[in-house]
Amino acid sequence: MLEMPLHPLRHGIRRFWNPVESRYWAYERPALIEAECGRCGKSYAFKPDPCPPYPYDPVSGGYRRIKGQVCGAIAGRGACGKCGKVTTSLNWPEAAHIKIKVAEGVLWSWNTQQLLAIRALVAGDKVLLRRMLMNDWDLSRIVGRIPRFAAIKRNRVKVLAAIDRYLRK
Ligand SMILES: [Zn+2]
Repeated sequence: MLEMPLHPLRHGIRRFWNPVESRYWAYERPALIEAECGRCGKSYAFKPDPCPPYPYDPVSGGYRRIKGQVCGAIAGRGACGKCGKVTTSLNWPEAAHIKIKVAEGVLWSWNTQQLLAIRALVAGDKVLLRRMLMNDWDLSRIVGRIPRFAAIKRNRVKVLAAIDRYLRK
């Protein structure tokens, strides 16, 4: 008697691959970074070079996904509008324009647009936050990585006041 396989293999493991989760982890830097000029202290726009979310891995011979690789040297280009200094590499987050220090560490933001979402998170404005993050994967990833100390109760007032100072500028 010929035995039939219980489960034909035509669907394979791919059926269980979760594209949402994979997109959540795939990493790209924002197209625009607000950096602080190393010479005069003024903020300026820095455009990072595109960075592939799946770099070639010589050890495994395949492509590995970048997870959480955010800080460190960032290649790109920007020029200070005040003193004219041209920059081709940043050290992150030291070069961030938006940096808020509390006892537990430093909360930073790539740019003002993301700071608005961070503000909604810290303020606990869930409706506004959900509206801002809707279909915006880059922003969702950033907000998902905000350190916990930024939104805890004892830091809330200080962090919100600092955010509002940046937003008023
Ligand atoms: Zn400058």
